[in-house]
Amino acid sequence: MKVNRCDGQCRTCGGTLDIVDADDATMTVECTESTCADSYEVETDAFGDGCMTYWPAVMAKKLWKGRVDDDA
Ligand SMILES: [Zn+2]
Repeated sequence: MKVNRCDGQCRTCGGTLDIVDADDATMTVECTESTCADSYEVETDAFGDGCMTYWPAVMAKKLWKGRVDDDA
């Protein structure tokens, strides 16, 4: 699930982040910039949404499908 650039960017290059995994306490993000491709964990409210937008969506996808798919 892509992170809106208004909400957060890659801490390394400022690129767009993709949330690739999540658990009760953290989300794993991956930079979509091929030259960077940094991957790291952030807190569930790291994007200033009060855990209301990204984390539940990512967790739901993970629970339903066993993996976080694209946000189609
Ligand atoms: Zn990056």
